[in-house]
Amino acid sequence: MQLPNLTEARKRTTKEVEHIYLNENYNADTFKGQKYFLRTYGCQMNVHDGEEIAARLESLGFTPTDKLEEANIVILNTCAIRENAHDKLYGFLGRCKHAKKSNKDLIIGICGCMAQEENVVKELMTKHPYVDIVFGTHNIHELQDLILNRNNKQNINVYSCEGEVYENIAYKRDSKIKAWVNIQYGCDKFCTYCIVPYTRGKQRSRKSSEIIKEVEELVKEGYQEVTLLGQNVNAYGKDLKDELNFAGLLKVVSKTNIPRIRFVTSHPWDFTDEMIDVIASYDNIMPYIHLPLQSGSSRILKLMGRRYTKEEYLELFNKIKKAMPNSSVTTDIIVGFPNETEEDFNETLDVVNKCQYDSAFTFIFSPREGTPAAKMKDEVPMATKEERLHKLNELVNSYSLAANKKYVGKTIPVLIEGISEKDSNKVFGYTDTMKLVNISNAQDYIGQIVDVTITDAKSFSLDGEIK
Ligand code: SF4
Repeated sequence: MQLPNLTEARKRTTKEVEHIYLNENYNADTFKGQKYFLRTYGCQMNVHDGEEIAARLESLGFTPTDKLEEANIVILNTCAIRENAHDKLYGFLGRCKHAKKSNKDLIIGICGCMAQEENVVKELMTKHPYVDIVFGTHNIHELQDLILNRNNKQNINVYSCEGEVYENIAYKRDSKIKAWVNIQYGCDKFCTYCIVPYTRGKQRSRKSSEIIKEVEELVKEGYQEVTLLGQNVNAYGKDLKDELNFAGLLKVVSKTNIPRIRFVTSHPWDFTDEMIDVIASYDNIMPYIHLPLQSGSSRILKLMGRRYTKEEYLELFNKIKKAMPNSSVTTDIIVGFPNETEEDFNETLDVVNKCQYDSAFTFIFSPREGTPAAKMKDEVPMATKEERLHKLNELVNSYSLAANKKYVGKTIPVLIEGISEKDSNKVFGYTDTMKLVNISNAQDYIGQIVDVTITDAKSFSLDGEIK
């Protein structure tokens, strides 16, 4: 089989395609009584893709199982962001190969961002012929066809149809309370360390009319919260003619009367004053902003291709806090970017001290093959990077705890989502500022937004009770 030409396929122009997943060719009896095992790694985008994959499998009659040994089809929805992603994929494939020895009809499928990487596809074709289907992030809509037309040979479809935006997608949503809603796909920013523009393509925004239609359906179904999802939501609409910008989209989504609106992820470069005004003005837009910093050093930010300086980031942060003093702001920080000096790292600590984030996701730089940063020379020893990460985490955690302590004694609205995994006598939910709250004896309130009095604070969660 010939390897698809990914580069050529990426030159396709934008076009919209109406797509209804329940095609008359797909019969829910085709695989009746058979089970699917779906494992998803990575970000919210992948999790949401997993909801589409589940719906497509169920349209063929499969039902879910969390036991690999019971499965008739196994789908691994991969993530390419971290270096250990490859280890996870090949480790998992080892288990699948073993399972296929006792069940030769087992269908094995690989998808997600790694399935968009040319070297991974080559390796799957040459060294893992027992993998039945491979499909990319642009080809999820073809899953049923891939399964039905496999004819006992490896069926690979990773062509990048990146100009296409599919509508009418069915999802098997994980929650009946809160839902992800894609507002755009891909990203145009090409930060030098990031694989996303290569695996998910250039930015394609959905039409606002389609987004509103989806949110209105969710309101009818009783959903309490939507999270507008994109790699860079602030750039929403820039790729479409005569479309709303993100501030405009937030306003119209707000008018659907969904009780809570969140959005991820924001890029500081595209964050406008208009957006801050809108977020501050509408009660159902939550005062929670994830604002990735990545580095506090303007020198490193330039090498990362982030398009803002330390000073510009701080100016934006201060504007947000001035407009919404009670908002929570979280961030992402990469430690040990190639040739990060002690001085650069201290700049990062300086920003953390100035912003006092509610929390931060911190990582050691991990080179992704095919990105410009992976080619940069790096003299910083891993031990130094680990030391820096440890120091950064201690600082970040101290601010998280301090931020959480401010809630103790206050009574605040919490959307209660379900039974706590750690303690079945407790339920968990989130404040408008995205603080996790564990609450005793409140099972009757699942799915509702209720006032909760905060009784205790830890670094990563709050305890509360309903009085
Ligand atoms: S904004 Fe940068 S880090 Fe975020 S997805 Fe786009 S390229 Fe990657």
